[in-house]
Amino acid sequence: MHSSTPIQLDNDFIRQLPGDPELRNFRRQVGLACWSQVEPLQFPNAKLLAWSRPLAQQLRVSPDLLGAARFARVFSGSELLPGSRPYALCYGGHQFGNWAGQLGDGRAINLGEVRDVNGQHQILQLKGAGPTPYSRTADGLAVLRSSLREYLCSEAMHHLGIPTTRALSLVATGDTVVRDMFYDGNPRAEPGAVVCRVAPSFLRFGSYEIFSSRNEPALLKQLADYTIARDFPQLLTANTPDVASYAAWFDAICQRTAGLMVEWMRVGFVHGVMNTDNMSILGLTIDYGPYGWIEPYDPHWTPNTTDAQGRRYRFGQQPQVALWNLVQLANALFPLIGDVKPLEAALDRYRDAYEQGWLTMMRNKLGLVLPHGDDQQLMEALLHCFTLVETDMTLFFRALADLVLADEITVIPAGLQACWYDAAPALPAGQALLDWLNRYRTRVLQEDRPQSQRQTAMQQVNPLYVLRNWLAQQAIDEAEQGELGKLHELEEVLQQPYHQQAGKDHLAQKRPEWARQRAGCSMLSCSS
Ligand code: AMP
Ligand code: MG
Repeated sequence: MHSSTPIQLDNDFIRQLPGDPELRNFRRQVGLACWSQVEPLQFPNAKLLAWSRPLAQQLRVSPDLLGAARFARVFSGSELLPGSRPYALCYGGHQFGNWAGQLGDGRAINLGEVRDVNGQHQILQLKGAGPTPYSRTADGLAVLRSSLREYLCSEAMHHLGIPTTRALSLVATGDTVVRDMFYDGNPRAEPGAVVCRVAPSFLRFGSYEIFSSRNEPALLKQLADYTIARDFPQLLTANTPDVASYAAWFDAICQRTAGLMVEWMRVGFVHGVMNTDNMSILGLTIDYGPYGWIEPYDPHWTPNTTDAQGRRYRFGQQPQVALWNLVQLANALFPLIGDVKPLEAALDRYRDAYEQGWLTMMRNKLGLVLPHGDDQQLMEALLHCFTLVETDMTLFFRALADLVLADEITVIPAGLQACWYDAAPALPAGQALLDWLNRYRTRVLQEDRPQSQRQTAMQQVNPLYVLRNWLAQQAIDEAEQGELGKLHELEEVLQQPYHQQAGKDHLAQKRPEWARQRAGCSMLSCSS
């Protein structure tokens, strides 16, 4: 498209689906509607802090085309592009296991959609551009620290090859937002920001649950039909979906969700708030809040302070929680199908897909090609070793890739020592790891594959650079002082997470000791 072509937004969602007739923007329960019209706030001092060049190119919407000042106005919500009719979505959700009723886009405003260079529709959504009817008791705003985290992590996940909503831009509003970060009666004014998120759909499990819970089967059907036609068109066998298409759709959601869980486990991503309103109907990673990255491998770790007691959303629990969430979605979709059997079958297939997917993923991480009856035990023995001495998961797999496996291993190779948070482990941890390494060596040698081939294959599935919690926090500390160097360095390096980059070793390091207990580095509050 020529650079002078004006950007025009479309609004298929609001054309096709019923909207809220109330046009005034006040907090309320919104019945019989999928969306409410809403205007973003004006931020006259908005300033562009960062934008994703790869995504801008994909969307053909960039500061180069719009001009930096206009781009900042548009992506803070202060100026609407032609065709834009902003709206907020109505949805509900189960939060921490309990039905929470109406939630909705409390601080997200959809501007409209564009077609990207691949012909795919993409919705542009601002997060933090002001209140909506769904804001409940909150202000509709977002602080810089959480916006920067969402911006960086969305793009990092994309470059890791993991399904996710994207982030086009990070704009400082120029205003402050008051937050009590630790919920301890110490509110402070923090810089505000707006992220422009991008996805083919922002519908969540809770988008369907809300209509089922309100006993609105006609609206449920309308939204389901719309979703299938628009984002699962391959499942449409006739003009309108029938019972079989709804069942196939739920099955597809289960499969995508299983694939997503395998991917999170592969890279050590912990979402932190897997409520059903934070589960994408497309199987994307969505709603980056108090997420975190596994540094010392620990299946019990949750980054979310609100989750510290129950640890519902801990790393190792994510596949089970996703299944629990899918069961809630199955209940919500039941009225469309009227039969539990296909829903149960899809849930069973979720379990199989996750288990098989996990084994294949782990085999890939270990650079093994041929399935073996002993695989499950081999993987579990490794994870057990990780519990004996604090081991940096990301660094371990990269070091393992570099290991030349020839003779029997009698001392722990130096390359692996660098992955530990403690000094060389005493027995029995050291012995357990030695045993495991020799077991692994036997498997690798059986496959008779050149060392360099195994290494390259492992480097393609084991990232070297991930958005370590303390790295994000350093970028935040600087950005709050108006320094953007760390932010830009991280976003650039994380575009090639599998590829070792010169002079960037400091971004592939174990968590430093100072970060162990610091807020934002090991635990995160939901306040954002
Ligand atoms: P979350 O757990 O962050 O996904 O948010 C749960 C619900 O709270 C969603 O409906 C959000 O839109 C809403 N919410 C979170 N923060 C704010 C805020 N600052 N203003 C308005 N709504 C919010
Ligand atoms: Mg949410």
